[in-house]
Amino acid sequence: MEYYPDTLKSLQLLQSLGFDLFVVTNQSGVGRGYFSMEAVYVVHRQLQNDMREHKLQPFKDFAICPHSPDEKCNCRKPSGQMIKDLMEKYHISPEHSYMVGDKLIDAESGKNAGIQGVLVRHLTSPDFPSYKTLLEFAQTLKK
Ligand SMILES: [Zn+2]
Repeated sequence: MEYYPDTLKSLQLLQSLGFDLFVVTNQSGVGRGYFSMEAVYVVHRQLQNDMREHKLQPFKDFAICPHSPDEKCNCRKPSGQMIKDLMEKYHISPEHSYMVGDKLIDAESGKNAGIQGVLVRHLTSPDFPSYKTLLEFAQTLKK
């Protein structure tokens, strides 16, 4: 598993600012039969181990859409459903929550869940704030 240079540092900064971290991910490869859910869990376990190894809190939870687009589920991003479910489960208020991603559908899923969508890494859009890196975004929250 490889990370962009500042990713773990960014996550550390976000946690130090009091944010809980979640992963919200489309894994249509499962629905298309390319790999199993177990393979997805293996990656998530590795991610959690890497977090602990770097003295970070693990991610609070993972929301996974395993469906292919043909299945027309209601969870696949850009739907806001996975985020809404997490906010309900953990009693998270939308005002100080962000959905950060490197694809437009990530930011859109935030918007569809009623929270601020944010783009990182080379993607810009008139509809969402965008930052070169996750660290750059995290630093704007540090007041
Ligand atoms: Zn789905």
